[in-house]
Amino acid sequence: MTTKPGERALRFAIIGAGMSGILAAIKLTEAGFTDYTVYEKADRLGGTWRENTYPGISCDVPSHLYSYSFALTPDWSSRYSPGAEINAYFERVAHDHGLEPHLRFGEEITRCEFVNGRWHLETGSGERDEVDVVIAATGVLHHPNIPDIEGLDRFKGATFHSSRWDHDVGIDGARVGVIGTGSTAVQIVGAIVDRVGHLSLFQRTAQWVVQQENPPYGDEDKAEFRRQPALLTDLHSDLSRQFGVFARAVVDADSPEMKMLEEVCRANLEDTVRDPELRERLRPNYRAACKRLVVSPNFYEAIQHPNAELVTDGIERVEPNGVRTRDGRLHELDVLVLATGFKADAFMRPMGVVGDDGVTLERAWANRPSAYLSITIPGFPNFFMLNGPNGPVGNFSLIEVAELQFAYILQLVERLRVGEFTEISASPGALESFEDARLEAAKKTIWMTGCRSWYLDDRGVPAVWPWPFERFRAEMREPKLEDFETR
Ligand SMILES: Cc1cc2nc3c(=O)[nH]c(=O)nc-3n(C[C@H](O)[C@H](O)[C@H](O)COP(=O)(O)OP(=O)(O)OC[C@H]3O[C@@H](n4cnc5c(N)ncnc54)[C@H](O)[C@@H]3O)c2cc1C
Repeated sequence: MTTKPGERALRFAIIGAGMSGILAAIKLTEAGFTDYTVYEKADRLGGTWRENTYPGISCDVPSHLYSYSFALTPDWSSRYSPGAEINAYFERVAHDHGLEPHLRFGEEITRCEFVNGRWHLETGSGERDEVDVVIAATGVLHHPNIPDIEGLDRFKGATFHSSRWDHDVGIDGARVGVIGTGSTAVQIVGAIVDRVGHLSLFQRTAQWVVQQENPPYGDEDKAEFRRQPALLTDLHSDLSRQFGVFARAVVDADSPEMKMLEEVCRANLEDTVRDPELRERLRPNYRAACKRLVVSPNFYEAIQHPNAELVTDGIERVEPNGVRTRDGRLHELDVLVLATGFKADAFMRPMGVVGDDGVTLERAWANRPSAYLSITIPGFPNFFMLNGPNGPVGNFSLIEVAELQFAYILQLVERLRVGEFTEISASPGALESFEDARLEAAKKTIWMTGCRSWYLDDRGVPAVWPWPFERFRAEMREPKLEDFETR
């Protein structure tokens, strides 16, 4: 990049080459910042979509919304496209934007330390870098949550977490157990039930399920999108508006929209599950959307398949031959899949981050992760997160979230470039006010109506954005400089 007189030449490190890191790289380049490296610990980009290759994986937000707004594509194969196609999309977009020279694969950032106004980075292989600005795009659903079940290590068959699917293990005709009933488990069950010999789904908590068909886009649809690209833009905006309605519903548990959603879920259960006993075992004892809503074209049909069994007796332990439930029964298995989610509060860990005056991330987050507007942490200047703590997560497009966040970050970076200040991070007071307001607003949300979910922190407070999406959009429009400390 050529800097104009008086401008500061900034060097950046982007940590992570998933959806957010790729976005950051593209947007930095567009803004004329070309001195950056994207560090990715894996050997390919894609993050979530590289790691999760389990049968049935797809997005559960329509693909035409789960796309970068600047790289809409006519080519999605279906309303909810499969994971491999999504990963290929990210690979293609990164390639089209010429990111290759900036990507460093197989390099995990293990330490970032702020020394004399710059961030000093170390990688697992001992490389070092020094940058002005860090963009942490390390993911939310990244560290697998392995349940603490007695005997898991003694199972004789194959066992793996859903995000580490072992494709060398044959499942055709096998006795397969799936632990967990979240979105991933539901996708797996729908995809494998007619391939396996027997499928045992171990359910601790029943889930509300929204029935959504997944129709393919035919050649004609794609040709039409190609002929009229405005159709893609319109579709993206329409879907975004529709998800805005959903986002309004979940943050107001008493809203008419929420009641309607509950009714839709209830009707799906009543109308689709024929056996009254099974229906009751599948009926959650909490309100719809309290946990992340499961969207599926076929879950209830799949669980009624002759190969499938819903197991609701709690798991006592895992034994060499299968899973023993509390009723004393041994469920014999060849394969055990842990669809048990992720440590959603791990964020950038285990990376060591040391900010101004030696303050460590471990200390700043001793109670729990927090960040002003989910982007910046007091005491960690020029360090910005994408999809950080307490941002909007749930049943909407995290691409839209990351795009808005990066546009906000870019405004701060521009001010660094022109020398308005050299260091910036949120003030402790701003974070405190944000957290106070967030906790108050959380009380009205559906997430606090009496269920256990990965949204809740150790206090039972949802660690997410508790306001309508419009408010997020408005907050992201322009930073309020009075909420920051600068030098
Ligand atoms: C099964 C599944 C389905 C999902 N479906 C949807 C959906 O339908 N809609 C939706 O909006 N979201 C969905 N999500 C959420 C999804 O994670 C996000 O949409 C998005 O992919 C996150 O991108 P990211 O770049 O922020 O994080 P990630 O995709 O997690 O990427 C983070 C990257 O950072 C790398 N990394 C981490 N730490 C370091 C380090 N210290 N040094 C170097 N590299 C590092 C990782 O290897 C990884 O490649 C889903 C998640 C899962 C797990």
